Amino acid sequence: MADLYDLGERPPLGVVPERMHAFAVRQDRFGPPRDAWKREILPTPTIKSDEVLVYVMASGINFNNVWAALGEPVDVIAARQRQGEVEDFHVGGSDCSGIVWAVGDKVQEVTVGDEVVVHSGWWDPDDPWVLSGKDPMLSESTKIWGYQTNYGSYGQFARAQAHQCLPKPNGRTWEEAGCFLLCASTAYRMLCGWAPNVVEPGDVVLVWGAAGGLGSFALEITRACGGRAVAVVSDEAKREFCLEHGAVGVINRREFDHWGPLPDTDDAEGYGAWAKGAREFGKAIWTVLGEKTNPRIVFEHPGEATLPTSGFACETGGMVVICAGTTGYNVTMDLRYHWMRQKRLQGSHLSNDEQAAAVVELVSEGKVDPCLSQTYPFDDIPECHQSMLENQHPYGNMAVLVNATKPGGGV
Ligand code: NAP
Repeated sequence: MADLYDLGERPPLGVVPERMHAFAVRQDRFGPPRDAWKREILPTPTIKSDEVLVYVMASGINFNNVWAALGEPVDVIAARQRQGEVEDFHVGGSDCSGIVWAVGDKVQEVTVGDEVVVHSGWWDPDDPWVLSGKDPMLSESTKIWGYQTNYGSYGQFARAQAHQCLPKPNGRTWEEAGCFLLCASTAYRMLCGWAPNVVEPGDVVLVWGAAGGLGSFALEITRACGGRAVAVVSDEAKREFCLEHGAVGVINRREFDHWGPLPDTDDAEGYGAWAKGAREFGKAIWTVLGEKTNPRIVFEHPGEATLPTSGFACETGGMVVICAGTTGYNVTMDLRYHWMRQKRLQGSHLSNDEQAAAVVELVSEGKVDPCLSQTYPFDDIPECHQSMLENQHPYGNMAVLVNATKPGGGV
């Protein structure tokens, strides 16, 4: 048996070579993703009794591994070393389609040969919170697979916990199946996980960054639930994409200029200008809808630049649900609207097993599209992250082929 196989060259099912091709970052090259991600030959990971090794066919590209390359706000390698892991590299990749190649002796969920997708919720199976049966995403041990854990899907073999594996959706290519789950499961939890503020038929949902990875799934999932998504973008060229993926209308944020932190409420002029901008934005939502209805859910992730407007625009008793602070974490909002109108500001992060399974099912049934924009070869992993950092990446979700040798396979 060879100890290293080329990409796409399959060892016999179940046979695990000692080494593999993988893209990794190291601390001495933290910085622009273009230079931080390098192809290396690394040891194939070993697995514990509750883990599986997946022969990766395709992977998705996510913003978290832009952060990993930059080494900020968290040095993921140092963070793991503090917890006792010895590796001085990070093999990223938080989305994956592939074939189960080896299983630990306690694994019951999957068997060798199963075609799977991998969701990125990782937690300590012995965590008392997890053992108690509560939502594991609220446990202290939760990590994002392929970001906070090593050996994600940018290697020929990925290491995952068995519960992360779900059947590959019906009729989808490796790249379609491998590109969507991190963003789709996050969007699903945000829109369907926080009862009673879940999308119901007719509900208006305001979606920031609607042509982005998360936003495109917010549009798709809102439509699948019978809601009405109003998309926000910065470029007219994104309008058609949003309408195709489920938006009932589109607002171009470039037509407004009141973004950023809320001015001091004692600054009458500054506050007045902000309030005018926020009201105009609210009216733009009504114009798109053709009726004076405010969003019952605001799907947030830009954070600092947009949260004051999100809080203002949200319907009485509605929810602003947020999973990131892409434009900054130091947020402001006018609390008077928040308490008087009894709105909810809900943080949300990734998803649990059930939520990931629910959105995979929606994809399997054809109710949610994987929003694959473009498929790239393995060696484009650095450039894909660079374009994401520069907000120059194609709309929706990018996929990279790992062991799949050409697009279109796996159906
Ligand atoms: P993406 O594909 O790059 O999309 C982000 C979108 O944000 C862009 O399309 C852009 O759209 C919009 N945007 C950029 N600057 C903006 C601004 N100043 N105001 C309003 N909108 C702005 O990224 P993504 O995959 O959707 O991820 C978005 C964020 O969520 C990232 O920070 C990512 O790390 C985070 N995330 C968190 C989780 C979690 O579980 N916590 C999961 C997935 C992603 P326009 O320029 O067209 O407006």
